[in-house]
Amino acid sequence: MLNKNLLALLTAFIFLALSCTDKSTNNSSLDKQVFLKHVEEISSDKFLGRKPATKGEEVTIDYLISEYKKLGLMPLNGESYLQPIPVAEISPEYQKTLLIKGKNGKVILNHGDDYVAITKRIEDKIEVVNKDIIFAGYGIVAPEYNWNDYEGIDVKDKIVIVMVNDPGYATKDPELFTGKKMTYYGRWTYKYEEAARQGAAGILIIHEDGAASYPWAVVQNGRMGPQLVVDDGNKNNSACKFEGWISLNKAKEIFSLAGLNLEDELSAAAKRGFKPKSIGLSTSLVMKNKLAYHTTNNVLGYIPGSERPDEYIFYMAHWDHFGFDSTLAGDQIFNGAVDNATGVAGILTIAKAIKDLPEKLKRSVVFFALTMEEFGLLGSDYYVKHPLVPIERTVVAINLDGLNIFGPTKNYSVIGYGLSELDNYIKDEADKMGKTLMPETFPEAGSFFRSDHFNFAKVGVPSVYMGAGDEHMTQPKDYMQKVTSEWVKENYHKVTDNYEPDKWNTEGMMELLQIVYNIGSRLTNESTFPNWYENSPYKKIRDGYLKK
Ligand SMILES: [Zn+2]
Repeated sequence: MLNKNLLALLTAFIFLALSCTDKSTNNSSLDKQVFLKHVEEISSDKFLGRKPATKGEEVTIDYLISEYKKLGLMPLNGESYLQPIPVAEISPEYQKTLLIKGKNGKVILNHGDDYVAITKRIEDKIEVVNKDIIFAGYGIVAPEYNWNDYEGIDVKDKIVIVMVNDPGYATKDPELFTGKKMTYYGRWTYKYEEAARQGAAGILIIHEDGAASYPWAVVQNGRMGPQLVVDDGNKNNSACKFEGWISLNKAKEIFSLAGLNLEDELSAAAKRGFKPKSIGLSTSLVMKNKLAYHTTNNVLGYIPGSERPDEYIFYMAHWDHFGFDSTLAGDQIFNGAVDNATGVAGILTIAKAIKDLPEKLKRSVVFFALTMEEFGLLGSDYYVKHPLVPIERTVVAINLDGLNIFGPTKNYSVIGYGLSELDNYIKDEADKMGKTLMPETFPEAGSFFRSDHFNFAKVGVPSVYMGAGDEHMTQPKDYMQKVTSEWVKENYHKVTDNYEPDKWNTEGMMELLQIVYNIGSRLTNESTFPNWYENSPYKKIRDGYLKK
């Protein structure tokens, strides 16, 4: 998983489509031994932590191709299971300090502790010199909320400072945006995209633990070393020259150098009618980059449908993880057993169950093992921009990421619950299993925007990501919360995320695979295209396709 909060981990899982007729598909064609064997293999040391564009990738995709062949899956990309993605590795010489200057002095920000900044532009040098700083509130342009933080100001070639999250979260006013629940406008990825559309040279987001839903360490994580980026064909020159973060304390100092009080400015920014403004300061950022070019691969195979082969149900799971770190003492390999050998093993297990069915499925089912999730959801982003089958014929996408190792729960959490008609399918199947559903646990954390299913949503394809709920079947009420947060603290994105069948309770994983399988089974036999609900921002996009 990518920067996910802990409950989202619980929820990790997914759904997807699949399968066959009416009631004949149920139960127990999902083989736990097959599943665990895949998890063990994919998380073993010989996969070297599965880092994209390394030897670890070669081992991983060889394994996947060989398993896809054994399963008799058809390649989705012509004769090939692979969708190659050209990536650039940008290794910057980071500027050790960032100086913010004004007529009354300067504020010094140290790289790492006080600021981080990366570039997506594939250039050997990034230069932003003595540019004015504009405070643009939350950095949001949202006509549907009658909101424009860039109104009346030209930020072209300037630097913008914005606050993380959105005004709804800041005020907890349910009438503003979606109140406490984060909209996509609250995510840093959106703020970078908008600043680029406005033509800003650079952007700095003010970090605050609560508003971001994670600590500064997570901001640093992954932004201090070389960056892998996908070339948009234009060396990514539509992105801002740099994309950065600053700590809350330094933001206070910067505003005070400008003669402003940060708290006052932020509360003004959370009200309608806020006006962006120059704060009378400037700064410079120069990065010299070493560039290298590689290829990484999405891996896609499918089982053709018998009646509507040109309609597709996607099961997806990211195969990539963080590789190894040879500077560590002892264990050096990030095996990523939970994150996400379990998801990949899940789609392989579902594929086997479908293959073993006596009857053929009416719709096609695609098994999509994708790359570069851990590096910014880039494999799924690339896919939806270069789809191998038409997006408008893609019925749903079910994402599996980090299955629950703590045992069966009375409920499931559904990230994206309340957004689409998939709710009905999930609810029906949960009812049959005697389970209840809960929406995501921390709506303010924006979990919906933090795994690969989101890239499918962005192009209009209803997508879902399910996980364990918060109530364990047999343990005390606070059990799931407790073991999950412990696991996140000890193992999440660490070398200790290992395959440990003796410690895991695998029943919860199998139950989750079963419900996802059942949901998919129904969809493979229908001719319906579940749509987004009226209140969802993705409905318009889907409607556009469905009219064709
Ligand atoms: Zn991860």
